[in-house]
Amino acid sequence: MSGKLFLKRGKEKPLHNHHPWIFSGAIARVENANDGDTVEVYDAAGEWLARAAYNSRSQIAARVWTFERGEDIDDAFFRRRIERASEARKTLFQNLIQNSLNFELDFEKSAIRLVNAESDFLPGIVIDRYSDYLVVQFLTLGAELRKKEIVGKLQEWFALRGVYERSDVEVRAKEGLKEVTGILLGQEPPDRIEIVENDLKFLVDVKRGHKTGFYLDQAVNRERAVQYLRGEVLNAFAYTGAFGVYAAKRNGAQVTNLDASASSLELARENFELNGVTANAEYVTADAFEKLRAYREQGRKFDAILLDPPKFATSRGNLERAARGYKDLNMLAFQLLKRDGFLVTFSCSGLVDAKLFQQIVFSAAVDAKRDAQIVEKLGQAPDHPIGLNFPEGEYLKGLILRVN
Ligand code: SAH
Repeated sequence: MSGKLFLKRGKEKPLHNHHPWIFSGAIARVENANDGDTVEVYDAAGEWLARAAYNSRSQIAARVWTFERGEDIDDAFFRRRIERASEARKTLFQNLIQNSLNFELDFEKSAIRLVNAESDFLPGIVIDRYSDYLVVQFLTLGAELRKKEIVGKLQEWFALRGVYERSDVEVRAKEGLKEVTGILLGQEPPDRIEIVENDLKFLVDVKRGHKTGFYLDQAVNRERAVQYLRGEVLNAFAYTGAFGVYAAKRNGAQVTNLDASASSLELARENFELNGVTANAEYVTADAFEKLRAYREQGRKFDAILLDPPKFATSRGNLERAARGYKDLNMLAFQLLKRDGFLVTFSCSGLVDAKLFQQIVFSAAVDAKRDAQIVEKLGQAPDHPIGLNFPEGEYLKGLILRVN
């Protein structure tokens, strides 16, 4: 007999709207359920609403697998969801690439997010593809307990060499889970996997790199931003150099890759080499705030600056501090730009929404005494979709500005 979860009176509205999260404060009582179990969710009047993974240890005490009463949470369920999500990627990317560019996308060699957790109706499950390896994250207890079952099937569903886990993510702690990484199936990935993004090649370290190895959410933005990255380009928060490689290869730009991490820049160097643009790059291991200030003191100027910092706002508690960080950084960038230069600036903090981000960038321009125009607004790539029912899935936003 499966467990039951009853909501408090008046707490059913989000579920009617298909929001997948049930907060502990919305729950009246739970019957016959252990942490990790799949439970039937009812409103206070006893009306069936959903089937969800339960975890008393998390503030998000249940995450909905399905809103359809006839849908069991079994192998076939995961297969349907994963297949639907990955099929969508094929169409999306083929359309996108073929409509905007002149080269063919090699789907087999590409890196792409196949399953984007809640936004693909699979709470807690992320599946990224890097050539013929899959890199996965299981972020919640409900997902963790299905891991074996799902991973066991992946080999049947995809042609692949191996499945590697990168569940070394802080959010696991909120679910009472430890961080884990390692090989789950097949062969261990090599230290460098070569992928193709648009028409460029990149080496990815899926075992030690950030997230699952590469910032896949920026794939489309790299294509958009490169139009403006000409001349002397500062690629701040360069990580493994991706935006800079685009600028060097497509435009012959001279790129200063700046990052606090020497090992990331080492891989950036390999990526410039792989694309035959070694001569177009320099590498600076430093704190971006300090280095940008130093450039200002030296009077150094750039034709274009790219700012892609890590998530500054990690909780509501540090939102103000984060906003100050974004403002300082953007102000420095405005000061370092030549007349008619371009600033490509991002925030990946979900807590800083697009409107607030634009306000911050505006106040940075005011402080730097530079007028600027937004020429493009950017978001996350279509393989990181945002469920209309799940606005929390939106986090990445960017502005391309022409600076007077
Ligand atoms: N633009 C990159 C992704 C950037 S991720 C891409 O497209 O692949 C953010 C990067 O910021 C990381 O590589 C991290 O090492 C770096 N970083 C974090 N804090 C920093 C700081 N204070 N100064 C310089 N780099 C920093």
